[in-house]
Amino acid sequence: VIHLKDVSLTLGEGASSVHVLKGVSLDVTAGEATGIVGPSGSGKSTLLMVLAGLERVDAGIVRIAGEVLNGRSEDQIAAFRGRNIGIVFQSFHLIPNMTALENVAVPLELAGRKDAFAIAAHELEAVGLADRVTHYPGELSGGEQQRVAIARALAPEPRILIADEPTGNLDQATGRQVADLLFAKARERGMTLVLVTHDPALASRCARQVSMRSGRIEAAPLIAVSA
Ligand code: ATP
Ligand code: MG
Repeated sequence: VIHLKDVSLTLGEGASSVHVLKGVSLDVTAGEATGIVGPSGSGKSTLLMVLAGLERVDAGIVRIAGEVLNGRSEDQIAAFRGRNIGIVFQSFHLIPNMTALENVAVPLELAGRKDAFAIAAHELEAVGLADRVTHYPGELSGGEQQRVAIARALAPEPRILIADEPTGNLDQATGRQVADLLFAKARERGMTLVLVTHDPALASRCARQVSMRSGRIEAAPLIAVSA
């Protein structure tokens, strides 16, 4: 479901430009959970941005869910993302002046879903937050905020769920609950999960681990290759 071939990317201009990805090739099978590990600055977050179509590559092939993203217009990539990709960040990225329900429903509504609020209520219930729908992010614990973010990512039923250090801002017990939720939802819905983590225990729960070092993939035991 993910196919990257010799992907290269330089970010920044002039003196501050960095060759962030240096010929990255990666294949991920649909439904598989992949954990990306590696030192700070090795390019993990940038790789996730490429998978989400949020960064364009300078060279190489990016094919996600059967669509080649190279050379697509911004509109085409945004539509691709809406159909296929859910994203969860370390710092939750909820909109502070919207309730939990609105945080999940409004993006759906903007995507043209008429039943947005009903779906959002259902997704919040599915992550155990039925009694927090009218809370604002500032009135929720970190773990609750991340569960709202997961509900928001799941609501459009993406094929691929991308998570950048989803437990990085949570204490160990809460992080574990959030990780349990991510893995359970991915499995239930047959989603492909790609997560970046500094936590070896979390990485070891993934079917496969990919290790990055200075813009390259160091070790990626190959399981099976698919489109
Ligand atoms: P961490 O574990 O600390 O989150 P990471 O592996 O996710 O690190 P990235 O955020 O992908 O690392 O960044 C990889 C490298 O690219 C870093 O050295 C960073 O400074 C550089 N970089 C990222 N974005 C830009 C940019 N817009 N301009 C210049 N350099 C950038
Ligand atoms: Mg990062």
